[in-house]
Amino acid sequence: MRKIIVQKFGGTSVADTEKIKNVAKTVIKEKQNGNDVVVVVSAMGHTTDYLVKMAKDLSPNPSGREMDMLLSTGEGVSIALLAMAIQAEGYEAISFNAMQIGIMTENVHSKARIVDIKTDKLRKNLNDGKIIVVAGFQGVTEDGEITTLGRGGSDTSAVALAAALNAERCDIYTDVEGVYTTDPRVVPNASRLNEISYEEMLELAHAGANVLHPRSVETAKQFNVPMRVRSSFKLDNMGTLILGVEKMEIYKPVAGVAADLSQARIVVCDVPDKPGVAAKLFTTLAKDNISVDMIIQSYARKISNTNDIAFTVDTADLSKTVAALENLKSDLGTEGDIQVDENIAKVSIVGAGMIDRPGVASTMFETLAQQGINIRMISTSEIKISCLVDKEDAKRAVQALHKVFELESDILAEVKGDLPNV
Ligand code: ADP
Ligand code: ASP
Ligand code: MG
Repeated sequence: MRKIIVQKFGGTSVADTEKIKNVAKTVIKEKQNGNDVVVVVSAMGHTTDYLVKMAKDLSPNPSGREMDMLLSTGEGVSIALLAMAIQAEGYEAISFNAMQIGIMTENVHSKARIVDIKTDKLRKNLNDGKIIVVAGFQGVTEDGEITTLGRGGSDTSAVALAAALNAERCDIYTDVEGVYTTDPRVVPNASRLNEISYEEMLELAHAGANVLHPRSVETAKQFNVPMRVRSSFKLDNMGTLILGVEKMEIYKPVAGVAADLSQARIVVCDVPDKPGVAAKLFTTLAKDNISVDMIIQSYARKISNTNDIAFTVDTADLSKTVAALENLKSDLGTEGDIQVDENIAKVSIVGAGMIDRPGVASTMFETLAQQGINIRMISTSEIKISCLVDKEDAKRAVQALHKVFELESDILAEVKGDLPNV
């Protein structure tokens, strides 16, 4: 049986018609290798950002349904253009949007999860010898409503397709040459990793390394899909392989450093110190589909018998969160303030090598202290330590941590395109 390869090209890789021609050539090369090819593409360049901006110009709080109607149009343009470019090279190609294929998602707008992908149409067209071009980032509900998977979600479309089709591999082509020890735009001498485990990549992606959408790594791990991140501009480099194999010996405690600049901190002040308050608060947010990241509850104040609950959410969910909390205040039994701070960033170090190795956290805190950087919140997992700092300190924090954990390379990374679109 012929092998199926899923390829995904991000916004920078399809930013103009010249780049789309290049992508067509890369796709055809994989077909010439004797493989069946399914290609997933994002919207051209910064299209999605422009669409978001137009929506915000018209409404401070556009409805989720209409946002998804709007944002899903970007990918519709690039699939048709890429299919044309492939056809112009003499190969058969056909483009499909998520509705046409049946990329089924939950009934949630702006960050829907894929629940099923119908493969009949895909298999039939592959058997007919066609290269299939699929719109990333979008899905459809059982009721025929259009959804999107969240910013950067085309990576997840690609991996989910690879899982559904039992593909040999999912190649994510982007504007850097693989996964680096940190964003090479922040540290130009970051090191490219030849391989990284699903677990470490998942933590890095959640920590803000937007080279991969976190849910793409989650899906790859769940269905054991080998993933490769590589440059769409420099094809001689094999990039980074992401897979389940753990290294026998891990020499460095930290594999990578990341910063997430898209979080906001909320403090709900003076909530009663009694059972059920945190449950009520976070259940309400969960019902509104708001994901909470770091959480800290202060010690109870003896006299008032109250405490403060601080947590972080994605800035995209901020207004929704504040509205939900204002409604909940009387139910929680508090008249305290709801404080919001958007001037924050989460800086994280990630590495399987930190398990059972003392001193990693203290080195992180010491390094930030030497830089005069104040830590506002801390959270940890087995293989990650995150600190919340002021936004203006984030870059300096990443650079200092990258250095202290000896992650630098002698070679400068090549970065194509302008700023990343996520
Ligand atoms: P695409 O449009 O191809 O999906 P993205 O902009 O979403 O591309 O992701 C690629 C960008 O991710 C890079 O240009 C880089 O600035 C950024 N990035 C952040 N962290 C990392 C990392 N650890 N390794 C590589 N790139 C990273
Ligand atoms: N076009 C979408 C975005 O910019 C999805 C993606 O690029 O993965 O977020
Ligand atoms: Mg991306």
